[in-house]
Amino acid sequence: MKALQFHRITPKFQFCGTWNTPEQFARFLESILDKGVDIILPGHKDDGVVIAFDDGEDTIYDYAFPILKRYSVKAVVFLIVNYIGQDNLWDISITGKRIQHLSWNKIYEMKDWGIEFGSHTMNHRNLARMSEQEVEYEVFESRRILQQELGECTSISYPFNRVNPIVVRAVSKAGYEFGFGGDGRNDLLLKKEGVYITDTPRSFETKVLEKPDFIYRYDRIKQKVINYFTIATMLAKR
Ligand SMILES: [Zn+2]
Repeated sequence: MKALQFHRITPKFQFCGTWNTPEQFARFLESILDKGVDIILPGHKDDGVVIAFDDGEDTIYDYAFPILKRYSVKAVVFLIVNYIGQDNLWDISITGKRIQHLSWNKIYEMKDWGIEFGSHTMNHRNLARMSEQEVEYEVFESRRILQQELGECTSISYPFNRVNPIVVRAVSKAGYEFGFGGDGRNDLLLKKEGVYITDTPRSFETKVLEKPDFIYRYDRIKQKVINYFTIATMLAKR
């Protein structure tokens, strides 16, 4: 299991790379379904991809949620608990318009339809650079609030994909079953593959179908060997 990580879905041009247009998002979903790859929620099945949204921006409700409903696809949204219902303070676009974060009411509505919510910590800071105490606050408190409001919170997504053994220990102690933003070696270090405006159908397909690291590495070696023999054959034919 791994996650395809989206952030902002909007038809309006953004200067950051971490956005997709609604049309692009719909096409990407279609291409996953066309390939017969299952779109799953964490823990519901082993094999498949998770559609994940980091940061919990309002555009998810406006533009992604209708598309998810159209294709009957479930997703998980990782919320920054202190930002719920607030303006995005760290990413003011060049036009000066701030991106809003999902309100609790929108979160409840999406949850009723089957969207799952996980923690993206309290404040979206780099956990790998915090003391153990600070890490514990970020992961325990966000889970406590989400559980209290939504009944459950089994997953966490690490801000900036930054994680270390102290973080993993805290996350395990807090009771999370799944952590996204690692190298894929276990359930608390699952892979999160960012999807960007620059992705093409082809690069997206690679992200969906990419095999576990060791097979991937083997394929690369195989490719090198094939290249080597191709060159050798070419030289021999001269
Ligand atoms: Zn984030």
